[in-house]
Amino acid sequence: MMAAGTIAEKGKEVMILEKMSKPCLKLGITGKGRCNLTNLSDVNEIIEKFNSGGRFLKYALHEWSSRQLIDFFQTKGLKTKVERGNRVFPVSDKALEVVGILKDWVRTTGGVLLNNVEILEIVRSKDKVEAVKYRFQNKVFNQPCKNIVLATGGLSYPRTGSTGDGYQLAEKLGHNIVQPKPALVPLTTDSRSLILKDLKLKNIKAILWSNNKKVCEEFGELDFTDFGVDGPVILTMSTKVVKAVEKKEKIELSIDLKPALDNIQLKNRIIREIKQLGSREIIHLLKKLLPGKLADFYMEEMKIDKATKCTQFTAEQRKRLEAWLKNFQIKITGYRPIAEAIVTSGGVNLKEINPVTMESKLLSNLYIVGELLDIDAKTGGYNLQAAFSTGYVAGKAIGTK
Ligand SMILES: Cc1cc2nc3c(=O)[nH]c(=O)nc-3n(C[C@H](O)[C@H](O)[C@H](O)COP(=O)(O)OP(=O)(O)OC[C@H]3O[C@@H](n4cnc5c(N)ncnc54)[C@H](O)[C@@H]3O)c2cc1C
Repeated sequence: MMAAGTIAEKGKEVMILEKMSKPCLKLGITGKGRCNLTNLSDVNEIIEKFNSGGRFLKYALHEWSSRQLIDFFQTKGLKTKVERGNRVFPVSDKALEVVGILKDWVRTTGGVLLNNVEILEIVRSKDKVEAVKYRFQNKVFNQPCKNIVLATGGLSYPRTGSTGDGYQLAEKLGHNIVQPKPALVPLTTDSRSLILKDLKLKNIKAILWSNNKKVCEEFGELDFTDFGVDGPVILTMSTKVVKAVEKKEKIELSIDLKPALDNIQLKNRIIREIKQLGSREIIHLLKKLLPGKLADFYMEEMKIDKATKCTQFTAEQRKRLEAWLKNFQIKITGYRPIAEAIVTSGGVNLKEINPVTMESKLLSNLYIVGELLDIDAKTGGYNLQAAFSTGYVAGKAIGTK
C-alpha cells in the first residue's frame, strides 16, 4: 500500500492485486487491534532491534523514518500517541483507522485496488519481469506490467492472507530464500505451569537459560496460556529459543517476581509482613506478595498445609520462599507453529536486493519489500516501520523512473 500510493502520487498507473477480500487484514489486527505503528527511537537504536536485516535497512529507515511516517499519517488525520519504549499508537487505539487512511490514500491518488485476486506467477523475459499471471473468480489472467513490487508478507497468521506465496514466486525468479522460521512466537512449557493459564504477570524479570548457560534477560510482561507462555518478554526471547530448540538444548526460564527488591530488602519485607499477619494463615502472606493464582500454586508446589499460620512459618520455609520469588523456574519444551508467530524470520536473501531501492539485483524491474525479505525485529513497531520504509523507497524508485 505504501509503495502503491507513493507511485500513484507521482502520476503513474498502479494496480494492487490482493488475494483476500480486503487489503491490510494483518495490519488491522496489529498491536492487539491497537496497531503499534512505529517507534520513535532514533534510527541507530531501531536498527539494533532487528535480529536480521538491521544494517540492510539503514538507508530505507533514513529515507522514510518513523518521524516521516508519523507526519504522513498525521497529515491524513491520524492522531498518534507515544507509549512506553517510544512505541507509537493511534490515539483511537484502532488499527482499522490506520487501514482506512491507507486505503483512502491509495484510492485518491489514483491507485486501483483489486481484491480476491491471487498472483500465481511472475512472468519474466531475460533480465526483466513482464507480466503477472493471476486468478480471479476461477479464471486465470495475464497482466502485462512495467514494474512489480512483491509484498506478499511472511508465513504467520495465514488467515490474513500471508501464506508464504512470495517465497515460491521469488524462488522461481532465481532468488534464494533464507529458510522461513517463526520469530516472535509463544513458547510451550511442561504441564506443571499450565494450571497458571490466564495469569498475567507485570514488571517481572525473566532470564533465559540454555544448557544451563544464561542466554538473555528481559524485563516486562509475561502471560500464562493453555499451552505455555506468551507476552512481550516471551516474544522477545523467542527467536533465541527457536535456535536453542533446533540444537536440542535444555531450555529453562527463570522468573524474578520481585526484581525491584534485592535479597535483603525482600527478606525484610517478608519478615515485616509475617509480623503484621501474626496468627493468620500463610496464604495471606503469599497473597500480599503474589497474584492469588500464583499464591495457590506456591502452596501446592511446596505442599504447605492450608492451616499453617504465619507464626508457624519456619526460617527455612521463609528462605525457600525468598529464593523462589527470585527464581521461579519454568521448563520450556518448544515453540508454537509459525502460523501463530507474530513475524516470520528468513525470506528473500538480502544480498540479492539493492538496499536503496529494494530492486532485485537479478531482475531490474522487480522490487521486493516488507516481511517477505529476510528481515525481522523485536516487538515495538519496528516490523511495520520496516514494511513502510521498504515500501516507500521502492515506490519512490518506480515513481521517479
Ligand atoms: C497478530 C500480529 C500483530 C502484530 N502487531 C504488530 C505491531 O503492533 N507492530 C509492528 O510493527 N508489527 C506488528 N506485526 C507484524 C506486522 O504486521 C508485519 O510485519 C507486517 O504486516 C508485514 O507487512 P507486509 O506488507 O510485508 O506483509 P503483510 O501485512 O503480511 O501483507 C501481505 C499481503 O499480501 C497478500 N498476498 C499474499 N500472497 C498473495 C498472492 N499470491 N496474491 C495476492 N496477494 C497476496 C496478503 O493477502 C496480504 O494482504 C504483527 C503481526 C501479527 C501477526
